[in-house]
Amino acid sequence: YYKETDSIQYTTVAKFPPVKNLPNTERKRILITGGAGFVGSHLVDRLMLLGHEVTVLDNFFTGSRTTVSHWVGHPNFEMVRHDVVNPFLIEVDQIYHLACPASPPHYQYNAVKTIKTSFMGTLNMLGLAKRTKARFLITSTSEVYGDPEEHPQREEYWGHVNCIGPRACYDEGKRVAETLTYGYQRQDGVDVRVARIFNTFGPRMNPYDGRVVSNFIIQALKGQDMTVYGDGNQTRSFQYVHDLIDGLILLMNGDETRPTNIGSSHEFTIMEFAEAVRDIVEQIQKDEGVANPKRVNIIHKEMPIDDPQRRRADTARAKESLNWQPRWSVRQGVEEMARYYMKQIAEGKL
Ligand code: NAD
Ligand code: UDP
Ligand code: UDP
Repeated sequence: YYKETDSIQYTTVAKFPPVKNLPNTERKRILITGGAGFVGSHLVDRLMLLGHEVTVLDNFFTGSRTTVSHWVGHPNFEMVRHDVVNPFLIEVDQIYHLACPASPPHYQYNAVKTIKTSFMGTLNMLGLAKRTKARFLITSTSEVYGDPEEHPQREEYWGHVNCIGPRACYDEGKRVAETLTYGYQRQDGVDVRVARIFNTFGPRMNPYDGRVVSNFIIQALKGQDMTVYGDGNQTRSFQYVHDLIDGLILLMNGDETRPTNIGSSHEFTIMEFAEAVRDIVEQIQKDEGVANPKRVNIIHKEMPIDDPQRRRADTARAKESLNWQPRWSVRQGVEEMARYYMKQIAEGKL
């Protein structure tokens, strides 16, 4: 045994992006649940670069180890496989609670598990925040407004949600998670922040996760029909992930304790969006030397039940209290994401 291990050569030194050297008084111990997911992995990158100690807690249901594998081995980084429905003990200063599947096919795959994750997972993380006196931020969603009767959606709007439909596990899960959050604030003085995130996209989004931006870009790149659900007159407003990360960090470190929308106020119909993605992908393919990129068809598929008809963020609160507004245009974001998937396709990963 000793003979064999003696022969191992420890020569490889991992290379990491340069992280800021924060004084101990400023370096925070930060827990990110769902940190191996799409949004979580970008948040991990930003907080690591800022010089904090980051612990990722994830059960890898929709996330993957590879999204944050570039930090494995860094002294400020730790990854724990754990399901948030079970209690968890750690000493931290801040908790970003993201753990929850976010794409309709994923959260509907096991609806009971989704609502358990939202309720029990949030309860456990609030219990942890209460014990450690950590500041707690939850990533809630524009879905708390349901199929809205007010447009655009302000934080004061109470929403219009079908509590027994196929989306309810997610929508009502997040609503009860917000209720728990403010319950712990009132009863136990937990320091809380609530971000209501609107549709967000960017690299590292699971290409098969079923959401519209990844579906459209992959379909356009692969020359497949682009699938618009229903007539395509329903609307969404899409923000790029880096803008969201700016907003989450500002919210966590600011004084605004009321729910705060973080999203884009640039509204597209899904049909307009399909056409825009098709044009952008075609242009990128030309730039990359593809002589005659195939012009893909846009086809219609059945409209999912309870799909919200209109959605646009009213971001006046974020602007006023966080001095936040999106900096990326949808075009820039779609270009970056398409190039990211293109590279993966070229490397045979997709
Ligand atoms: P995602 O599915 O990529 O990430 C979710 C992460 O949580 C994954 O890594 C998953 O493995 C993990 N997870 C799920 N259930 C868990 C459990 N029981 N225990 C531990 N880990 C668990 O989704 P995302 O887009 O990165 O979303 C992150 C958060 O932001 C979610 O809370 C979501 O509701 C919220 N949000 C996202 C959007 C968006 O457009 N991306 C919009 C509104 C809200
Ligand atoms: N909890 C946890 N980690 C902690 C503290 C609490 O996971 O560090 C869990 C705890 O197991 C409980 C939940 O958080 O299920 C709520 O905790 P709280 O102390 O508010 O409630 P209680 O334990 O009194 O029911
Ligand atoms: N959608 C679509 N084609 C797809 C995937 C989604 O037309 O391949 C539509 C969907 O019906 C919805 C919108 O795009 O109206 C946004 O869907 P997504 O699942 O991305 O997010 P959410 O419905 O949660 O906003």
